[in-house]
Amino acid sequence: MKIYKVCEICDLVFDTIEVEGEGIVEIKELCADCALEIGLGNTGNMITNKLWYN
Ligand SMILES: [Zn+2]
Repeated sequence: MKIYKVCEICDLVFDTIEVEGEGIVEIKELCADCALEIGLGNTGNMITNKLWYN
């Protein structure tokens, strides 16, 4: 059985996991790139980074 991790945002299959059994499962998740983009937008990391730069 294969588990495909598909990115919710860019629709990319960014990971596949093989487990025992028959069939294919698709899981909607975020790929590292999109997770990073959303994380940067929501947590204020960019402000923190700017503070570090200054
Ligand atoms: Zn993505």
